[in-house]
Amino acid sequence: MGAFANVLKQIDEVAVFLEDDFEDKKALKSALKNLKKPQKVHKTTLKIKLDNGKTRTFKAFRSQHNNSRGPYKGGIRFHPNVSEDEVKALSTWMSIKNAVVGVAYGGGKGGIVVDPKELSEAELERLSRAYARFLSKFVGPWIDIPAPDVNTGGREMAWMLDEYEKVHKQSTPATFTGKPIELGGSLGRTEATGRGGSYVLEFDSALTGVTPVKTSVAVQGFGNVGYWFSKLASDMGYRIVAVSDSSGALYVKKGLNIDKVKEDKDKYGSFEKIAKVSKDKYKLIDNEDLLGLGVDILVPAALENAITKKNAGGIKAKTIIEMANGPVTPEADTILEKNKIEVIPDVLSNAGGVTVSYFEWVQNLHGYSWKEDRVNSELREMMKKAFDSIFEIKKQKNVTWRKAAYILALKRLVTAMMLRGRC
Ligand code: GLU
Repeated sequence: MGAFANVLKQIDEVAVFLEDDFEDKKALKSALKNLKKPQKVHKTTLKIKLDNGKTRTFKAFRSQHNNSRGPYKGGIRFHPNVSEDEVKALSTWMSIKNAVVGVAYGGGKGGIVVDPKELSEAELERLSRAYARFLSKFVGPWIDIPAPDVNTGGREMAWMLDEYEKVHKQSTPATFTGKPIELGGSLGRTEATGRGGSYVLEFDSALTGVTPVKTSVAVQGFGNVGYWFSKLASDMGYRIVAVSDSSGALYVKKGLNIDKVKEDKDKYGSFEKIAKVSKDKYKLIDNEDLLGLGVDILVPAALENAITKKNAGGIKAKTIIEMANGPVTPEADTILEKNKIEVIPDVLSNAGGVTVSYFEWVQNLHGYSWKEDRVNSELREMMKKAFDSIFEIKKQKNVTWRKAAYILALKRLVTAMMLRGRC
């Protein structure tokens, strides 16, 4: 099943709970129907010159899901699996995520079908600039604000902002977030998604009454999100026993030294290679084995559909904290619920990134920058508020974390749509 079908199922599953909150059932039904379709999906084929003089084309998308709560907002990913179905799903999750944390944004997401490892830096720059020219007609500080996502970061945002500003002939730093600090980026933005997740881990531990030292964690994925989550959780005292990349997972029962793993990853490129050169220091296991480890907390921080009906039955963790977008399918959710495994959903756990993007946008619009302490403490406050509101709904309605988060978000989205007469 495609990712978009998963989102639609997740929305359908909570529709019944919203009936308590809206008197006008017909308007509710119509608003939900509208939320099951992005408002606009822009598509194009980008053509760039390769270093060898030949040209190559790349499919590219931007899905603008809903802007009833504010401008569309969401990242841009560079990945071979990007598709129209995927950006539609990811943009819907962005609308839900932004409503969960209460930032006044709608949802958007874009992507280019490309394996960035196959391109040189100069080719990636030409591709990013071509994409920004395509975006330039329909993004802007009060229209749609892109940001980094899988395989993109400050470097790509700098190229895109520069190209966008060339087209529009003015400085508009608030059009993109996740920028380098020198171009108006916010302190704390790079770590923000991982940091937000580490706060969720802390809040959940307080709820269940466990201490960090007694808690073992396995993290799937060691990109920006997986790395920062592991690093910050490890600094807080949690025992990170396994981390993986696409080549495999490093496992040490006593806990990994994340700084050393990061240093080796930068030096050797893959975990497989690290395990080889480090002799007996690490046990190399595969990604599936990592998912089935008997740990307290499992953190999928790579891509969607990591935990499906095929492997959900083998999960032994007590809690899953979703740091990727859409890593657990609805079928897997049903199995996990039956097995009493808590799933703290992506739309809460990984919302730290977009929350600090919001702070970055606010700073750009004010022409004033915040100290890093302010960024982190306001992030913590917003994550705590969202966590507590979701926990209240979870208790009240006796539902999963995901359903509670969706009830909170859809209530906010439907209310905004009703106020605008969009139903
Ligand atoms: N790509 C991130 C996400 O999926 C951040 C989006 C943003 O900052 O706009 O939440």
